Formats: sequence, structure tokens, C-alpha cells
Amino acid sequence: SSDDDAATVATPEVWNADEAVLVTGGAGFVGSHVAEHLLRRGEKVLVIDELNEYYDVSKKRANIQLLEQLGGRNFRFFKGDICDKAFLAEVEKSCKFPKRVIHLAARAGVRPSIDDPFVYVHSNVEGTTRLLELAGQAHGNDAKFVFASSSSVYGGSKKQLFSETDAVDAPVSPYAATKKACELLAYTYHHLYGMNVAGLRFFTVFGPRGRPDMAPLKFVDKVSKGLPIDRYGDGSSSRDYTYIDDIVDGVIRALDTPLGYQIYNLGNGRPTRLNDFIRLVEEHSGKQAIINVMPEQPGDVPRTCADISKARELLGYDPKTPFSEGIAKLVKWYNESRPSIELPEDGAQQVAVVTPER
Ligand code: NAD
Repeated sequence: SSDDDAATVATPEVWNADEAVLVTGGAGFVGSHVAEHLLRRGEKVLVIDELNEYYDVSKKRANIQLLEQLGGRNFRFFKGDICDKAFLAEVEKSCKFPKRVIHLAARAGVRPSIDDPFVYVHSNVEGTTRLLELAGQAHGNDAKFVFASSSSVYGGSKKQLFSETDAVDAPVSPYAATKKACELLAYTYHHLYGMNVAGLRFFTVFGPRGRPDMAPLKFVDKVSKGLPIDRYGDGSSSRDYTYIDDIVDGVIRALDTPLGYQIYNLGNGRPTRLNDFIRLVEEHSGKQAIINVMPEQPGDVPRTCADISKARELLGYDPKTPFSEGIAKLVKWYNESRPSIELPEDGAQQVAVVTPER
């Protein structure tokens, strides 16, 4: 009978809060890799992402599709804004709020945050507070909350090596200020609920499925197509670029190693000069770069390098991918995925090339 049929329609089981990991921003670059890794190790993964149009949303949809294929019943996706209380209540009804949260949803990008600071304060500060509050209320000191901060909190520091013990009270962009605010709020929630919180200061992440607004993928795309790249300054500046697999490894280690409240640098620990970076892109793509020399940008820092000894010691974090190998992998992925990768031309709301989001 039709009643029997109705009874056999599978209602999705409500996941036990212990089982699943919530990955916010899981449609994005870092989040999709983290979610993929978790699914591969047999975890149930719940992704929340609003699929915003900061960059081509079809890339985010493709990431979700990949996770759906890989995860099957172990994967669930909810499209919505992490600041939206009613939306989160709906999610909670069908999924329970997981004890383990990897919070990566944010507005990223340094330069665009100067043009539109409010959207950064909304997603980054309000969104992080909302999730911290939900995690604390649902699970108290059982909650494990890992979130993305950024090396940009080090501001215009003149130090050669950035350490977690440095005073970071001079953010030079709204983006950096929101990340510092997240660290402060995370401390507060650790204090209020006893929850475990780890804030991870990522240093320029790159690799397959990378962000199209950031230098590594942009350079590879332009050089491969014979288009000019903008180089700000004389190319002697250096930056600590971190390959995506190493970042994922650090994120997972932080999740698996709850230690109260901690801030960790996650970098490669070996900076690369911009000119060497361009040379490697040329080498691996087999094309010569056409370089537009642009004046140094205000706020650009000459060097970023992570002191990763704390993550090494407490988490066993040990980045394995030298920059040259990472670029080789990025170029290989780029060549295999072309022509499906269509990067926007510079113009309108594109951010400048050489100060990647940090
Ligand atoms: P991304 O833009 O690819 O991913 C972020 C995702 O979050 C996007 O898919 C976006 O749609 C989603 N999102 C943004 N606001 C949201 C909201 N209010 N509600 C729901 N979803 C929302 O960026 P990414 O490079 O993967 O960065 C991940 C995290 O790491 C971010 O917190 C970023 O600030 C931080 N970070 C990244 C880098 C880097 O080099 N990529 C460096 C330092 C810090």
C-alpha cells in the first residue's frame, strides 16, 4: 500500500554528535581538502558553506560534488551563512551540533577587506562568535574547536621569524584585525566553557584547487597562457608559502590534540623569494614569464617566515613539501584541469597579485 511505501522512505539518521566533524567553509580551498582528508579516514563530515561569490562559485560547487561522491552517506552539506542563527538551528535539528569543529569559513583576502570591511567583520567575527557559542553551549569542555587565523596578524612586523609569543597588537588591514578578534573571542569561549580551542595562523597556502585570487595559481595561469604578471617591488621580498597537504596535516593534528587554548603557526618554515617563485613557475610550466614591474604596495611586508617550533613540538607538525615540489604539483594539477579552470582577467574586483592573502 502507499502507507507502506511512505514508511520505507529513508529518513536520514540524526548523526551522533560524537561521530561527525563540522567543517565550515568546506566548499572552499582549504576546507575542501580538510573535508576530503577526513572522509578518507572514515569520518562523517558535515559541511556548512554559503557558497559566496568572492570567487567563481562553480569551483565551490565542484568541490562539494567531489566530497559528495567520495563521502556518500558519510557526507552532508548545508548551504547557508554561519551567522544565521535560524539556519544553524535547522542544521542542528537534522545533524546535532558536532563536538569537533573545524571552522574555516571566512572572508579571506587582505586588499578587498580595505574596500569592504563590514562583510569581513560579519563573516569572520560574528560568524566565529556564533560557532564558538554553539559549540560551548552544546558540549562545554568536551568541545574541540579548531579555526583558521592568519599570518596577517603579525602585521608589519620587522622580525625575520614570526613566533606565537610575539606581541600581535598592530593589525594593518581589516582582515588581519578580524582574525586577531577571532583569536581573542576564542580565548574568551575557552575561558567561559573550558572548551578546547586551537587557532591556526596559516602562512600563504597553495596547491591544487587553490584560490584564484592568490599569487600561486594566478602566476601559473598567466605564465602558462603567455599573459603578463604584475610583480610589486623588485622581487626580493620573500614569503613563507605552505603546501596544502602540510596545512591539512597541521589542521588534523590540531583537531586530534586538544590542549586547552592554543595558537599555532602553520607554515613551511622556509621562505621563498618572489623572483625564485617566478623562476620555478617558468621552469615547471615551460614558459617565460612576462613581468609588469609595479611599485611596492603600502602595507606589503618584505618577508614572512613562520617559526613552526611550537606546532612541531606539541602537534608533531612536520611540513614535508618543499616549495619547488609544491609548485610542480600545482602546475601538474593546473595542466590536467585545464580548460575547466577559467581564471578571471584582472580588473574590477580582482586583488593585486603579489601580496597574497595571508
Ligand atoms: P576560501 O575562500 O576558498 O574558503 C572560505 C569558504 O568560506 C568559502 O567557500 C566561502 O563561501 C565560505 N564562507 C565565507 N563566509 C561564510 C559565511 N558567513 N557563512 C558560510 N560560509 C562562508 O578560502 P581558503 O583559502 O580556503 O581559507 C580558509 C580559511 O583559512 C579562512 O578562514 C582564511 O581566512 C584562512 N586563511 C587562508 C590562507 C590561505 O593562504 N589560503 C591563509 C591564512 C588564513
